[in-house]
Amino acid sequence: MALSDFERYPLTFGPSPVHRLERLTQHLGGAQIWAKREDVNSGLAYGGNKTRKLEYIAPDIIASGADTLVSIGGYQSNHTRQVAALAAKLGLKARLVQEKWVDWPDAVNDKVGNILLSRLMGAEVTLSPAGFDIGIRSSWQEAISEVEEAGGVPYPIPAGASEHKYGGLGFANWAYEVEQQEQELGVFFDTIVVCTVTGSTHAGMIAGFAGQDRPRRVLGIDASATIEKTRGQVAKIARHTAELIGLGRSLGDDEITVLEGWAGDLYGIPVKSTLEAMRTTAQLEGMIIDPVYEGKSMAGLIDLVREGEIGPDSNVLYAHLGGQPALNAYSGII
Ligand SMILES: *Cc1c(COP(=O)(O)O)cnc(C)c1O
Repeated sequence: MALSDFERYPLTFGPSPVHRLERLTQHLGGAQIWAKREDVNSGLAYGGNKTRKLEYIAPDIIASGADTLVSIGGYQSNHTRQVAALAAKLGLKARLVQEKWVDWPDAVNDKVGNILLSRLMGAEVTLSPAGFDIGIRSSWQEAISEVEEAGGVPYPIPAGASEHKYGGLGFANWAYEVEQQEQELGVFFDTIVVCTVTGSTHAGMIAGFAGQDRPRRVLGIDASATIEKTRGQVAKIARHTAELIGLGRSLGDDEITVLEGWAGDLYGIPVKSTLEAMRTTAQLEGMIIDPVYEGKSMAGLIDLVREGEIGPDSNVLYAHLGGQPALNAYSGII
């Protein structure tokens, strides 16, 4: 099997844009910094990285004959918002379990941003008091059973669509898209920086790039603050995806790099470096990043470039994975 053997249901506009971040590059005084923009990749409810993953899951949903997508995330999950959009697009129902992954004091945390959009798109949303965990949850399994007991046909999509058999394919494809865009732009990105939490975005990239001729670094920046779980999940999904797309060799441990140091103590809680990265990016580039994910990976990029860990001769590609709707639930930090 190769990646091209898997059916892809188009939900994105096509290749996501790649552009320079000139003022940020100048400001940091080191590597050339570029961005690839999954935050503007689709017309479906603001898109994002989950929309790309769902392109490879949608054919399986349609083939299954399901009438209800069942998924899970935090109150401000970008993932469940993108699942709600897919359900609307396919004419299905969405049943979303939203857990209290973040103990955040904003009074409208469970009302605005992503959760508002999911409700607007007609998803049935239930709030659960359970805390953060990237694994398989009992509340999700209960929701699946409830759909069945009511006579429906559920299609389960795990948190972040990561522990789905095809969860890594979307970003394996992203790796090939990057290679194509490099040829058009006449540049080679030796370093990729990507936020990682449930793991299949980073894992898919690793599997996809591993099949290309020129080696490069794919640096995952942890935003889960449960680093061992995330590392384990990235490694598992990367190896599974590599096998699916017929890489023909096993991935080495040195190909799987998840860096810690920018997540703070808790998932979903921004720290000083997160806020600085958000302000820097907004004020130098007009590029908006969120306090849960992208602010943390950008804080990592900024430090790695400043410290020369990403050298001055590097071309670094920052994967902007979306997530801005959650900003509305964090008004107190700005
Ligand atoms: C889900 C998400 C991530 C993390 O991606 P994973 O595949 O879960 O590791 C990063 N940024 C944004 C905006 C997200 O919604």
